Amino acid sequence: MLDKIFKDIKQIQGNFSEIQENKLKEYKGKISKITCQKGCGFCCNMSVKINLLEALLIYPMINKKYLDKLEEISNRIIEIYNKNEEEDFFYIYRKEIGDCLFLNQAICSIHQYRPVTCRSVLSNHPKQCCQVDFMDNISKNEMNRLLKSMDNEINSETPYIMPFIYLAEIYEERIKEISIKYFQCNISGNMILLLNLIRKNTGDNPQKIFLDAKQNNFPELLLEIS
Ligand code: SF4
Ligand code: SF4
Repeated sequence: MLDKIFKDIKQIQGNFSEIQENKLKEYKGKISKITCQKGCGFCCNMSVKINLLEALLIYPMINKKYLDKLEEISNRIIEIYNKNEEEDFFYIYRKEIGDCLFLNQAICSIHQYRPVTCRSVLSNHPKQCCQVDFMDNISKNEMNRLLKSMDNEINSETPYIMPFIYLAEIYEERIKEISIKYFQCNISGNMILLLNLIRKNTGDNPQKIFLDAKQNNFPELLLEIS
């Protein structure tokens, strides 16, 4: 059954990228050029929210040397959550947890299977704008210049193309529907926590993972169960 589910997930992820490419053609000439390129990984230190089914798909691709670290990093993430205000969580996460496990020499090692969230992040601003402490380090004038250069319809005061972030929500909802259909339950949340839950439950029984997640009682900002 998981093979069929993975096929559907890959199709949803592929469809998202296809629609994104078509939209980019529509935007051509209307927005400044997309700056994302291979080898630019400043954005790959965010807390990435994915669906458990996407996590199951990429779990076998984790480099073995990181498997033992999943528990340690998960505990650190929970500690960051517990010790800080919720509104500071994502900022501190980027500073303290650092690069994604799948980032290898600034290249995503699972590019073809990367989750919808990762696909949705595209920028039309200098790549430095995606650095975690960028906003702390620039002068007020530079900040004003940057904000002025942003098209509010497209960027909403971020370096990112926001319509893709919103579009991702629709595709994530489709993955959720698959989860509910097959398992009558859905979990989405921080990628590392999900990968660690898979590791602890030996990876191939989503029902066990749902149960474990429920027992752990994670805060909603880290894992959402429905
Ligand atoms: S979103 Fe920013 S950091 Fe990420 S690939 Fe694009 S330009 Fe580079
Ligand atoms: S899965 Fe790939 S694209 Fe997503 S954060 Fe990790 S390295 Fe970056």
